[in-house]
Amino acid sequence: FRINMSEIIKLAELGKGNYGVVYKALHRPSGVTMAVKEIRLSLEEATFNQIIMELDILHKATSPYIVDFYGAFFVEGSVFICMEYMDVGSMDKLYVGGITDEGVLSRIAYAVLQGLKTLKEEHNIIHRDVKPTNVLVNSSGQIKLCDFGVSGNLVASISKTNIGCQSYMAPERIRVGGGGNGVLTYTVQADIWSLGLTILEMAIGCYPYPPDSYTSIFAQLSAICDGEPPRLPSCFSSEAHDFVNRCLQKNPSVRPGYQELSTHPWILKYQNSDVDMHTWAKANLESRAAGNIER
Ligand code: ATP
Ligand code: MG
Repeated sequence: FRINMSEIIKLAELGKGNYGVVYKALHRPSGVTMAVKEIRLSLEEATFNQIIMELDILHKATSPYIVDFYGAFFVEGSVFICMEYMDVGSMDKLYVGGITDEGVLSRIAYAVLQGLKTLKEEHNIIHRDVKPTNVLVNSSGQIKLCDFGVSGNLVASISKTNIGCQSYMAPERIRVGGGGNGVLTYTVQADIWSLGLTILEMAIGCYPYPPDSYTSIFAQLSAICDGEPPRLPSCFSSEAHDFVNRCLQKNPSVRPGYQELSTHPWILKYQNSDVDMHTWAKANLESRAAGNIER
């Protein structure tokens, strides 16, 4: 079915990113609660139409590790993307203090790997924006990816305008000049770097290249390119260290692929043991609800 603006009631703001706002919304005809992302862009109508057409292939990208796509449309200079609402939220809101339960971390890494693998193998899509805010959790304990670079026109339109202060870009992408050129050179290996950085951030509870410790964004980006890659603290297992270190190799050609990482000892260790993601997700939902009431 096709969704349009008149059928949607905005319920609450879920968050703001560098180029958009995400709302929790009700789709009246179906009664489905969804997340609607609004991206403001100054583009020709023809480009908007192309973006909507390109986004359409998301209807085919169904997987337990990818957020469901319901439809997209444009109104007055904005693209609206309607997707599955993930009630526990994004990882950046859940890792406060760091996730030290390696079972949980390993399951999250596995889910992200499966999502990335499906995108690449079944749809020939490279994510391009793997980071904690794009890894979402629901109260069933499912982990799903969102915001991948499915529309070339959309990727090109927003990368012109954005450079955030937390870069998950791999060193080789920073060197070629990020945004513009990066569109041509993006590889699966660049997503693997971002995955490593994401897992590390969730484990330690903060972005691994803290903005405060650099005098400028330039200095921070130089550290990613020229410095030693960041590491897990010693309290984590040797398997966890190995997984993260393999992802965070500065030479992209020696980073492992999805298949190798999916069968890494740190991943396999917890695939065969009970990790109660459902209880973990529920506990997070409850503590966030409690926090909201106090405020
Ligand atoms: P960037 O703009 O750099 O991509 P971002 O990912 O934080 O950063 P948005 O994609 O606009 O920005 O998302 C804003 C916030 O909305 C996210 O941080 C996330 O917490 C929330 N969010 C996004 N999509 C959903 C969803 N499907 N369900 C629930 N919450 C969501
Ligand atoms: Mg996002």
